[in-house]
Amino acid sequence: MSQAKTPNKTVWFVTGSQALYGPETLEQVAEQSRQVVRQLADGLQAPVELVWKPVVLTADQIRRTLLDATSDDDCVGVVVWMHTFSPAKMWIAGFEVLHKPLLHLHTQANQSLPWSTIDMDFMNLNQAAHGDRELAHLAARANVARTIVVGHPTSPAVAAKVTDWARAALGWHTMRTLRLARFGDNMRFVAVTDGDKTGAQLALGMSVEQYGVNSLVDAVAEVADADAEALTAEYEELYDVAPELRRGGDRHESLVYGAKIEIALRHLLTAGGFGAFTSNFEDLGGLRQLPGLAVQRLMADGYGFGGEGDWKTSALLATMKAMTTPGGGTSFMEDYTYHFGPGPERVLGAHMLEVCPSIADGTPRIEIHPLGIGGREDPVRMVFTGRPGPGRVVCLVDLGDRFRFVANEITVVAPDESLPNLPVARAVWEPAPDLATSAEAWMLAAGSHHTVLTTDVPLAAVEHLARMAASELVVIDGGTTIRRHRADLEAGAAYHRLAAGLTGGR
Ligand code: MN
Repeated sequence: MSQAKTPNKTVWFVTGSQALYGPETLEQVAEQSRQVVRQLADGLQAPVELVWKPVVLTADQIRRTLLDATSDDDCVGVVVWMHTFSPAKMWIAGFEVLHKPLLHLHTQANQSLPWSTIDMDFMNLNQAAHGDRELAHLAARANVARTIVVGHPTSPAVAAKVTDWARAALGWHTMRTLRLARFGDNMRFVAVTDGDKTGAQLALGMSVEQYGVNSLVDAVAEVADADAEALTAEYEELYDVAPELRRGGDRHESLVYGAKIEIALRHLLTAGGFGAFTSNFEDLGGLRQLPGLAVQRLMADGYGFGGEGDWKTSALLATMKAMTTPGGGTSFMEDYTYHFGPGPERVLGAHMLEVCPSIADGTPRIEIHPLGIGGREDPVRMVFTGRPGPGRVVCLVDLGDRFRFVANEITVVAPDESLPNLPVARAVWEPAPDLATSAEAWMLAAGSHHTVLTTDVPLAAVEHLARMAASELVVIDGGTTIRRHRADLEAGAAYHRLAAGLTGGR
């Protein structure tokens, strides 16, 4: 989606049946399943290709097809549909080897019953109502993680649900294969940005890799002045650049240095195959500015980022960027300060510099201001306000024995006034169900102060992502009460400890 690199990812569509129907009926089964794929593809709003696979009739074919899906690096998920009855013991060996997200589409090629002409030929050809229930029984018994979507493939509701799942599958693929570069360690003494990187790789696939910040310093030194100048010209075309920073302005050199940081970071990330990174203002080595503008530009291109060495939020941002539609807003964010009234209670979110312009309302302005932390030269940054709309903030935390996602439904709103003295990008929102309940519930759930804010990725897609990751998701929304929330946390803790089983060797 908004990824700088837009790979051709696929979702396989596998239709189940069995040989006893005979060649003539099975030819109709194949034709109807091709039609379902065409109809489903028409409504799918995610950048994946839906690939029709030959109808599977035997346990061997099923196992081979699902094994091939697992081994295909471009396949991000599998949709299955039992067009006719496909005895589910045939699927046991296949499910054992399937390690891709599974969507069980409970559908039927025929939309309306032909009441006056229906006969047994029709009944034989439209059996998913019981065929899919047979598969679902086995999937539940075998504890296969899956999403079930029910309805005709031309239904907009079905298309929307499959789209949410496909977006999550793209996110999960990104998280599973993510390589993340940390420039410096995490901020000293901070708990929530720390965590078990080996555990994260075991549970979520991401590889978190440490680089001395001087590798970035060296790369900045190698950037040619002419290349940086050319990039500042691009800034002047795309953004509202403060006059002092423009070519000929008193402080243009600071913008050139900011452009060098962007070119150097982009080079290191591309050369290393990284999809996400972190910085830490406590560990800037020979960098003259804290990277601000460069980080904002890279986030806009789909890279994950976390401040203060926060690799979990960076990985989550890269994941949710892969789930974001072109033009959609998804950014690194931090709960910064509160408005406790008068009027609705609100959160003002921002960071020292690093908020993604994909959430901006209007054209960002590039400015330069002092930064009272870090002790370096004044950094260049984009300044803007987040555009209003419904959304959510999501975090990923390490509880020691497992990882937990926390999501809070929010509404981004216009600030009460124009904030003329605030020199950083920001967003103002009202959290559901209200600030007091939201903040209490968030803190009870161990949620972090760093989040990913999105006005594009639906909650349903976040829910699918957590299920694909076999991880806990705590949702705070308009229906949250603290009593129910505490009960959910207790149930979640019990379930996820049981589900994780034992570790340590056998
Ligand atoms: Mn921070």
